[in-house]
Amino acid sequence: MAPATTAPSAGGPGDIVRATAADLAGRLAAGDVTSEDVVRAHLDRIAAVDGAPGDGRGVAAYLHVSGEEALATARDVDARRAAGEALPALAGVPVAVKDVVVTRGTPTTAGSKILRGWVPPYDATLVERLRAAGMPLLGKTNMDEFAMGSSTEHSAYGPTRNPWDLARTPGGSGGGSAAAVAAFEAPLAVGTDTGGSIRQPASVTGSVGVKPTYGGVSRYGLIAMASSLDQAGPCARTVLDAALLHEVMGGHDPRDATSLADPVGALADAARSRDVRGLRVGVVRELTGEGFSAGVTASFRAALDLLADAGAEVVEVSCPTFAHALDAYYLIMPSEASSNLARFDGMRFGLRVEPSEGPVTAERVMAATRGAGFGPEVKRRVVLGTYALSAGYYDAYYGSAQKVRTLVQRDFASSFEQADVLVSPTAPTTAFPLGSRLDDPLAMYAADIATIPANLAGVPGMSLPSGLAEDGLPVGFQVMAPARADERLYRLGGALEALLDERRGGPLLASAPDLPARPDPSAARPEAARA
Ligand code: GLN
Repeated sequence: MAPATTAPSAGGPGDIVRATAADLAGRLAAGDVTSEDVVRAHLDRIAAVDGAPGDGRGVAAYLHVSGEEALATARDVDARRAAGEALPALAGVPVAVKDVVVTRGTPTTAGSKILRGWVPPYDATLVERLRAAGMPLLGKTNMDEFAMGSSTEHSAYGPTRNPWDLARTPGGSGGGSAAAVAAFEAPLAVGTDTGGSIRQPASVTGSVGVKPTYGGVSRYGLIAMASSLDQAGPCARTVLDAALLHEVMGGHDPRDATSLADPVGALADAARSRDVRGLRVGVVRELTGEGFSAGVTASFRAALDLLADAGAEVVEVSCPTFAHALDAYYLIMPSEASSNLARFDGMRFGLRVEPSEGPVTAERVMAATRGAGFGPEVKRRVVLGTYALSAGYYDAYYGSAQKVRTLVQRDFASSFEQADVLVSPTAPTTAFPLGSRLDDPLAMYAADIATIPANLAGVPGMSLPSGLAEDGLPVGFQVMAPARADERLYRLGGALEALLDERRGGPLLASAPDLPARPDPSAARPEAARA
């Protein structure tokens, strides 16, 4: 028997949490539902299926739920709507935010013990924009510590579980954001993507995730991992919903020196256009075949056939340097991360540990704090990055990696002369079991083999579900476009999603297994991220 919390009933809470953001926006505007109802339905759903990371039950998508604050925003939006005020499109539609994005007054940990209990005094620009759009913030989502990982198992607070199978990972680092939308615990979520952390979790949870063009969404207020690669973007259940959130978050920000001057573009219109006739779709030869599981490959090929039948021109392109992208990434990313993470010194934010004996000097406090506050994957990357940047090795490691980065950019440039968009599977496999790659960093890193090239080149990428593999788990289809041409992702993604929905008779996530209601949803959330 399906648990009451997941059974859709017309107009009831189940119906609300299963609605798309676009649908909720329409119902809110028409006065069919209030934002307070919508937020309450989501808080109930979270209480029923989430549980906190570390308690061993539930999805554990959230590190912190800000129920009271979300309800206050909702009531404010409802009052303004009742007074006849013209409101932004997503006003009253709630959203969850990855815990690497700073939120004024709400704990922000980046999944790390070193920031346990830290409450930022300011909002990231993208958070300011969500608030200005009247979107209630449901809470902060779980992630690998400092966004380093592909499974959320490197979160200091315990892993998030995949709603399709609670024994598997939801991907990472933004597994919490992807799982929240896939488990109907939020209609929309914000993620960040340095090497695939929005797209790979979307792939393995059957949701949609977009890494915008580098500079398209402000990085002001993101806790930096690798500044030349980091981008925030939308997580959603449909391509149109992702476009609507992207339009809210994106656009120029003078507080981010790498922010593009361009306006964000008509992304929702592109998502609705559903016309791929004449669009040249380039299949990246190096991101197919060997290394990709049979089920992933079959789903990818079937989606290509649908696109060809709908009038797209499917061609093959070759990007030989993509074979070296992962290696270059694992030099550039740790180099930048080792520098960015130097700010966690026990003096300014969060944790401070004094040495148990001997003098309390700045250096010894720093060493004790970082030793206790950082997890093993973070330490591994700080060491790797410091080594790659050190005198005598800089040219051989960091310098060579930057040359590879330039070659990857050239491969993209020549491929985009032959194709309007490039496509590949998003991840080589479906969701892997919790624990299966924890002892093998290289196997973990391989999850991002197809997503990293876009970060190195700064081009936008999307993952949308192409179907299920033979193991019954979702497969992601990746679309990449030239820098500043994000609307092409939405044009192809919206059309492919419509073709797939028509063939399978509805959205993929509608076929996800029902989640068991947690045995004791009233049990106090441990508030893992609180001091
Ligand atoms: N999984 C990749 C890593 O561990 C990507 C992380 C990310 O995009 N934040 O570096």
